[in-house]
Amino acid sequence: MDAEEWDVAVVGAGPVGLLLAGELAGAGIRTVVLERAETRSGLAKANGVVGRSAVDLARLGVLDGTGLRVVSPPRFPFGPLSLDLGFGPRNPLHVLPIPQRGLEELLETRARARGAEVRRGNEVIALRQDAGCVEVDVRGRAATVAALFLVGCDGARSFVRKQAGIGFPGVTSDEIAWIARVTIPGDVIALRGDGFDIAEVGHVAAQRRIGFPGGAFTIAAAASFDASAPEDLYVISAHEPRSGAEPREDVSVAELRAALRRVLGAELPFTAACDVRSTVANSRQADAYRAGRVLLAGDAAHVFGAGGAALNAGIQDALDLAPRLRAVIRDGAAVETLDAYEEARRPAVDRTLAHTRTQAALGVDDESGRGLREVMGAMLETRGATRALGRMLEDG
Ligand SMILES: Cc1cc2nc3c(=O)[nH]c(=O)nc-3n(C[C@H](O)[C@H](O)[C@H](O)COP(=O)(O)OP(=O)(O)OC[C@H]3O[C@@H](n4cnc5c(N)ncnc54)[C@H](O)[C@@H]3O)c2cc1C
Repeated sequence: MDAEEWDVAVVGAGPVGLLLAGELAGAGIRTVVLERAETRSGLAKANGVVGRSAVDLARLGVLDGTGLRVVSPPRFPFGPLSLDLGFGPRNPLHVLPIPQRGLEELLETRARARGAEVRRGNEVIALRQDAGCVEVDVRGRAATVAALFLVGCDGARSFVRKQAGIGFPGVTSDEIAWIARVTIPGDVIALRGDGFDIAEVGHVAAQRRIGFPGGAFTIAAAASFDASAPEDLYVISAHEPRSGAEPREDVSVAELRAALRRVLGAELPFTAACDVRSTVANSRQADAYRAGRVLLAGDAAHVFGAGGAALNAGIQDALDLAPRLRAVIRDGAAVETLDAYEEARRPAVDRTLAHTRTQAALGVDDESGRGLREVMGAMLETRGATRALGRMLEDG
């Protein structure tokens, strides 16, 4: 079987793989991205990049000519609580509001312009490595792809991680979340104060997890993340005990309505729904970031049980790893110097796991959760404590 030869093969054209490919190709490293999907997924994922990665993307010129800009929101959710970060330079938090699909388009254009080859419809189905290179088989292709290094940016269920024999210890939530984008007509929802008055449901604060007798509910106007979104479109999630259910991407609108009824104890008055699915939160980190010539980055290396942290961590992975690979491939540094990648990233990811687990614990609707909310809510009345948490969200 013929083998093509590359410096680096990146598996997965999500935001992390595409950013990494752009950084490597821009440094003269011959880079190929192998992506299973024929086309980019239409499912809505992240609404933005939270933390210092937003500033890094601007610094790298990714936002040039887009009209997008990084902001420092005066308030930001921390689980069910809200951080009052204030205005001005002492606000430590940066946010880039951009739908994930838009970010991926920018990063793919940049990666290609810098010389990376992005191949869609290329699922990696086997992986072998020896002391000198890594070789992969791609479904339906006769030629294997060989590279000096392979980086698994292939998401939380990473095939690369499993093939490399790297474990993924951590915890899985006992809660299931039903998520969707729904249209709620203006005559049954009104903006008031910190949230919305919704017919049948009552007042619900925006962008915060609000407890209901059957679970918890969050709602945000889609336009608050994406200026081009219709003004009657909302991003919602309803959380309830998992009871053994597995997450699915084929949830029907009837199932969504039933879940909302169980959680809210009322009908949410929406007229249409899209991107309906269920998810179960995981909080895990790979037990190694490198196995020989195979490395991991992004969700393949870590997943978090609260929103807003994953892209920040994944982008930091890519920005840390790219110059280290360049030093080995171009400047003759020893392969072992790549261990510094894990030494740099693991402590940062440990901190992110800690604050996302804290956010999840704050949302639990029992005596302990209520106690935690009361104590932390009181602490967050001081600016110092609020800004310390803001800095944690920033760090990634
Ligand atoms: C509903 C939702 C909302 C979210 N909101 C936020 C948010 O607001 N902020 C935030 O920071 N994060 C958020 N996240 C998390 C964020 O979407 C992920 O962290 C991000 O997608 C991870 O990027 P990645 O590049 O590591 O992996 P992915 O985006 O998962 O990309 C992995 C790619 O690898 C490909 N692939 C997998 N296996 C193979 C294979 N064998 N061969 C070839 N290709 C393969 C997949 O097709 C995929 O394209 C959200 C996630 C969801 C689901």
